[in-house]
Amino acid sequence: MRGWPAEPGERQDLYLRRLAFALLVGGGAHTLVCWLVLQWGFFRGGDSAFITVFAVIWGGHLALLAFAWLAFNRRLQDPSMTEPLMVWSILALLLSVAFVQEVRLAVMSFFFAILHQGVFRVRRRRVARAAAVAVAGYGLVLMHLQLIGALPRPGAEWSHWLLFALITLAMVLLASEISSIRLRLRERNSQLSDLLERIQDLAIRDELTGLYARRHAMELLEKACSQSRRGGFLLAVAFVDLDHFKRINDRHGHQFGDRVLVRFAELTNRYLGEKDIVARLGGEEFLLAMPVLDLDQARDSVTGLLDALRAQRFMAAPALEVTASVGLTVVGQTETPDQVMARADHLLYQAKSAGRDRLVAAGPP
Ligand code: GH3
Ligand code: MG
Ligand code: MG
Repeated sequence: MRGWPAEPGERQDLYLRRLAFALLVGGGAHTLVCWLVLQWGFFRGGDSAFITVFAVIWGGHLALLAFAWLAFNRRLQDPSMTEPLMVWSILALLLSVAFVQEVRLAVMSFFFAILHQGVFRVRRRRVARAAAVAVAGYGLVLMHLQLIGALPRPGAEWSHWLLFALITLAMVLLASEISSIRLRLRERNSQLSDLLERIQDLAIRDELTGLYARRHAMELLEKACSQSRRGGFLLAVAFVDLDHFKRINDRHGHQFGDRVLVRFAELTNRYLGEKDIVARLGGEEFLLAMPVLDLDQARDSVTGLLDALRAQRFMAAPALEVTASVGLTVVGQTETPDQVMARADHLLYQAKSAGRDRLVAAGPP
């Protein structure tokens, strides 16, 4: 898909290809047309002038290409080199046009191909600047030729110049229109992708805590279970339920209860690893899933979390100690996520029955 940032190497290849196309194909066509002009006898100075002019032009083309080939363009602010390419192409065109007689306008119309290169890639103001350089340069060439007496039909030449200037102006206005449409589109695009991200977030995350919501957590657990089977690592699954949470709500208010839930979510971020899955299954119930070496390692992690929770202090209820009960197990080789969840739930129930504020762990049967 276009628009995604490509790898640096890929991007450099793209720049090189574009540059090679513009210089070799564009430059080739320009040379061919001027060669035809030479054959028709309209190239001032004949063969030797033609060879000198195009030696200079191709020297420049190849130098630009070598510059990019050696990756010097990467150090430029715009490594695509669109603007330097445009400026150089215009100069090369003007140089050749100074030697063309009668059919100057035909050669000069190569400028529209150059302009086309820039319209979609550089800013409006720069396109306008390139157009101004071309029109003024063409005018200077005519003026110079007139001064040295090499402009046999000045009236016709200057009217061609005027025509060129008018067409260029029309092109620049059109380009600017296109460019503003493009900008609006880009803005709309970025708004849309922000929105999409938000919608995806809303679908997979719990709004209060920012933890994964139940449905997404189940999908992740399913994936983690099959990865664990294939990858040969153990996956520990824990059910966490905050103790007497209804009482906390009743005593300190629902809003305070919310703050406790958020605090617990923050602790999970601090105490669990990046590869661990943490989800809010609903209310004050949470699911933890973590790759471990053995059940003891999982027990240590979760115990650390429970200790941290118990040590939390809340301004609005300084004496309050929030505790949780946990059912902890590891996924067996042939188990489905549902079977593991049922066992964790059962272990949690045991932890509650045994007096809460504790962890009950067991491996697969
Ligand atoms: P136990 O120790 O047996 O788990 O008792 P408990 O009070 O924690 O469990 P119970 O399931 O009876 O109550 C859970 C309470 O959690 C009830 C409900 O009002 C509250 N709750 C559920 N969702 C939210 C929430 O988003 N915010 C707040 N503040 N409370 C919630
Ligand atoms: Mg509960
Ligand atoms: Mg509870």
